Amino acid sequence: MSIASSTSLPVRRALGSRMRYSAPRLSLGSSSIRRAFSTTLSRDATWGFIGLGQMGYSMAKNLRAKVPPSDTLIIRDVNPETTERFVAESKELAKSSGAGEDAFRVEVSAHPREVAEKSTVVISSLPEPQHVKDVFYNILKPGKLPTLEEERLFIDTSTIDPPSSREVANVIHGTGSGVFVDAPMSGGVIGARAGTLTFMFGASSNGEVVKRATSILLLMGKSALHLGPQGSGLAGKLANNYILAINNIAAAEAMNLGIRWGLDPKVLAGLVSSSTGRSWPMDVNNPVPGVVDTAPSSHGYEGGFGISLMNKDLRLAIAAAEESATPLTLGATAREVYNAAEEQYRGKDFSVVYKWLLDKSE
Ligand code: NAD
Repeated sequence: MSIASSTSLPVRRALGSRMRYSAPRLSLGSSSIRRAFSTTLSRDATWGFIGLGQMGYSMAKNLRAKVPPSDTLIIRDVNPETTERFVAESKELAKSSGAGEDAFRVEVSAHPREVAEKSTVVISSLPEPQHVKDVFYNILKPGKLPTLEEERLFIDTSTIDPPSSREVANVIHGTGSGVFVDAPMSGGVIGARAGTLTFMFGASSNGEVVKRATSILLLMGKSALHLGPQGSGLAGKLANNYILAINNIAAAEAMNLGIRWGLDPKVLAGLVSSSTGRSWPMDVNNPVPGVVDTAPSSHGYEGGFGISLMNKDLRLAIAAAEESATPLTLGATAREVYNAAEEQYRGKDFSVVYKWLLDKSE
């Protein structure tokens, strides 16, 4: 595993390595394809971004702000209001920087295929596995993508299941359309805005691919961890979020228990935070209103990490565990909790599990 810091790599390196790399021969039906890697430096790069939601919008903004102004960013989202807002904000930013409103090149595309055809790097941030498969199906339906000066790199930052990601990667690699890297992220909407996300990614151990993916991810985050071959980023992300799902329930139950025993919630949280029960849901995202001022629980459980996303990640972790015949003794119980709490508090931060518990204890 390699860890990189955001301060170490100049932006231009994100445009990729120009060295020659001999890829393995891949069989696709009756034809055999050797992927081409270029040694030519492209002056004005074209970037693609698909899925500008809570996370993707800010990530694309950071990307646009950090790559050279003469580079082009092509954006695609099923929601046209989002892409219109992005274009307007980019013009505003360029104007206020004194460079003139068209200094930052942003194009909107209605077709994921067009984004992929033109871009040497395509980043996606989509909600669920079916959205990722749908986008890549549309990209590849007409056949192999045209070869560009530089090997095309796809970085999918969506949290999906490793088998779906592998399926997409196999088609990208099998058609010689580029390199596909899974790079889910941690840090939430605040981290996306601040450009302080942590990415965990899976890519072949080819040094140049790892270096190239790392420098690109560091345009949107503070660290990028290479965990192993394609799919490894998602395996790491789902393992982490399995812990998060369980710790959140444990923190909510323990706070409820302590309060019912007569303990002051802030005193209890303080004790646990300096003891062995310490966890992120207890320290940072405490589920009891008023314990941590900045936590969503202190603001009506608004913002933060939505309970539906937590439930989705838990579902994916359980499915991936089943696929590898790995027992998860707490998985099914946690799933029941999130299903019920989501039903009641859809749209709220996942720490709302505490409120759901209170409703049950009354
Ligand atoms: P979101 O639902 O806010 O955004 C997804 C975007 O994708 C939307 O703008 C939607 O219109 C667009 N979209 C959907 N289908 C599309 C398609 N076929 N083509 C183009 N655009 C399409 O989701 P988000 O919160 O930004 O999360 C994105 C991914 O990141 C998810 O997989 C999520 O689990 C993961 N994630 C989210 C957080 C978080 O705190 N929100 C944190 C870490 C990871």
